[in-house]
Amino acid sequence: MDDNQQNPSSGDEVALRRIQRLSLHLYNPSEPHSGGLSLLPCRAKRNLSPSVESLSEYMRGPHREIQARIFEFFQSRPDLQTPVEISMAEHRQLCMRQMTALVREAGIRPFRYLVENPSVYFAIAEAVGGVDISLGIKMGVQFSLWGGSVINLGTKKHKEKYFDGIDNLDYPGCFAMTELHHGSNVQALQTTATFDPITDEFVINTPNDGAIKWWIGNAAVHGKFASVFARLILPLQGKGGKSADMGIHAFIVPIRDLETHALLPGVEIHDCGHKVGLNGVDNGALRFSHVRVPRDNLLNRFGDVSRDGKYTSSLPTVNKRFAATLGELVGGRVGLAYSSVGVLKIAVTIAVRYSLLRQQFGPPRKPEVSVLDYQSQQHRLMPMLASTYAFHFATQYLVDKYSEMKKTNDDQVIGDVHALSAGLKSYVTSYTARSISTCRESCGGHGYAAVNRFGILRNDHDIFQTFEGDNTVLLQQVAGDLLKRYQEKFKGGTLTMTWNYLRESMSSYLSQPNPVTARWEGEDHLRDPKFQLDAFRYRTSRLLQSVAARLQKHSKTLGSFGAWNRCLNHLLTLAESHIESVVLAKFIEAVQNCPDANTREVLKLVCDLYALDRIWKDIGTYRNVDYVAPNKAKAIHKLTDYLSFQVRGVARELVDAFDLPDLVIRAPIGMASEAYEQYTQHVGF
Ligand SMILES: Cc1cc2nc3c(=O)[nH]c(=O)nc-3n(C[C@H](O)[C@H](O)[C@H](O)COP(=O)(O)OP(=O)(O)OC[C@H]3O[C@@H](n4cnc5c(N)ncnc54)[C@H](O)[C@@H]3O)c2cc1C
Repeated sequence: MDDNQQNPSSGDEVALRRIQRLSLHLYNPSEPHSGGLSLLPCRAKRNLSPSVESLSEYMRGPHREIQARIFEFFQSRPDLQTPVEISMAEHRQLCMRQMTALVREAGIRPFRYLVENPSVYFAIAEAVGGVDISLGIKMGVQFSLWGGSVINLGTKKHKEKYFDGIDNLDYPGCFAMTELHHGSNVQALQTTATFDPITDEFVINTPNDGAIKWWIGNAAVHGKFASVFARLILPLQGKGGKSADMGIHAFIVPIRDLETHALLPGVEIHDCGHKVGLNGVDNGALRFSHVRVPRDNLLNRFGDVSRDGKYTSSLPTVNKRFAATLGELVGGRVGLAYSSVGVLKIAVTIAVRYSLLRQQFGPPRKPEVSVLDYQSQQHRLMPMLASTYAFHFATQYLVDKYSEMKKTNDDQVIGDVHALSAGLKSYVTSYTARSISTCRESCGGHGYAAVNRFGILRNDHDIFQTFEGDNTVLLQQVAGDLLKRYQEKFKGGTLTMTWNYLRESMSSYLSQPNPVTARWEGEDHLRDPKFQLDAFRYRTSRLLQSVAARLQKHSKTLGSFGAWNRCLNHLLTLAESHIESVVLAKFIEAVQNCPDANTREVLKLVCDLYALDRIWKDIGTYRNVDYVAPNKAKAIHKLTDYLSFQVRGVARELVDAFDLPDLVIRAPIGMASEAYEQYTQHVGF
């Protein structure tokens, strides 16, 4: 019995499949729905010739001038440049001198920009981090954390009293939130601030060793003030005349004498000591023994205490006040995401330049080839270079949104910025941390020399994954936010801008993947931004729908905490997938908005590599649900390798367009010219 006898329709089906398959090779991408068998025009393969100047101009953004001023200032001051070898004590002093010189000699006032024009502040933070990451973080502690808490959590009286001192560094300060026993779980902090109605003061106290403030930047050596996060306790205001715990509030606590720098009574500080990195920042641990501060020192924007000890707030619940308080601190996350891309640019630049210079092996009787000509090296570095571009545009967008949020106070923008800053901070810093190691490996033995920077970049940057919110914890906030929007969607609520796509893609998810498009494998189709974005968004929608169902199922037996934990890895994948969708969308927009055709073409190539590499890395997910058929998966893989090869052809121009001066690159092997000469000179030849 032949097949046709077994099943009379199967012969027809085979023929139909053949025709479909043939049509896939012939479809016209400009008319995706035409269904006609028109011939695909032959794609002309030609070499790209990017103009570094034009690319750089487009990348720079509006605040390059102030960055150039910072670079020139440090270039002209060798005494302020951080040497490769330096002790912890010297590094801390140098960092303080660097920051003071920046403010008082170069006349750059980061705090004013933070308040008036945050995008300039972030540009300064990126440039300063390029000079020394410790300096970038010390500046972040002073202006964004200590200064930011005073400005954003305090009111007019605090601004009037403290602004100038924070701005001109007369008032170096700390941000004292974390305790020995609690970092991520801020609501569980134990330090207390009890109101004393007789003296009209708050009494700041560390009730046990677990409540010692730990890891506090600027505390071990330089800080004179701290904004201390503590539980606000009001005697007699609770039920039955007991004390009332009003939740976490911030208080300005002087810790050292302004004149003598001696510790103030009741304040005990110890040094957290030598760290894995960032040793230019003096982290300390603080214990408060019944330290008294005036009632005015409560940063009272979201909650206040009157002279007679009564509490008032415009926000009705402890949870709402807590969310508002922490919400004001998102600027730190925006800064970390942005600066992390700055670090990635440095690492990628060194690795790419050296991989172009370095030659090992080659065809018989032919000159040796650059190590970047090896497919494996391209595979390591080219998608990373593409991701650096992608993150550049995404974090630029985040900074713009943050500035808009500060100007408008619009609720939708606030929601967007909170989730986006949490997501991008986690995604980008984790990516950069992994990539620095890959860059080191791709530079072989010379990558291991301290002077070539990977060690210090890796060590200094590593903690970006943990502070300002642990990445795993922050990703859960993104997932939580997505689930909230998902529920709102089905209740007919509005979705904020960044998530708007879910509205469309959820409905396309609910239908099965299209078996015809699942097989399309033409280059034009794979390089179509619509296909790429649809694929990213489809994955997010699928993850969202399935995790919502799982949470519902498990919560019946495990309760909400148990169900969340049971689905935790799924939730983290969802958050990452969403962030990748946002990153790709912003990259595609940046390509489309680029005014110069030549530059646009180069950016499009880089964007395609970013998108297809991500799809390929997650191909199992797409295959599992038949969103991508085997032939298409193979085509994506082949095209990713080919795009890596093409990007290699313009890799030098792509890293040069970051426009990082030698002062920032510093690694001899990463210099734009005479790298070997500079390296040999460095060791004394
Ligand atoms: C160099 C440095 C500088 C710092 N500077 C300051 C400063 O100036 N001021 C300040 O207040 N703080 C500062 N910190 C503290 C920092 O903000 C905290 O370390 C950070 O918030 C993480 O908290 P944690 O250390 O308690 O980690 P933990 O929360 O204890 O995390 C430990 C592990 O548990 C995991 N985990 C925790 N909760 C969950 C969860 N819900 N789900 C899944 N996994 C979870 C985390 O992913 C992590 O892997 C600094 C820390 C360092 C190291």
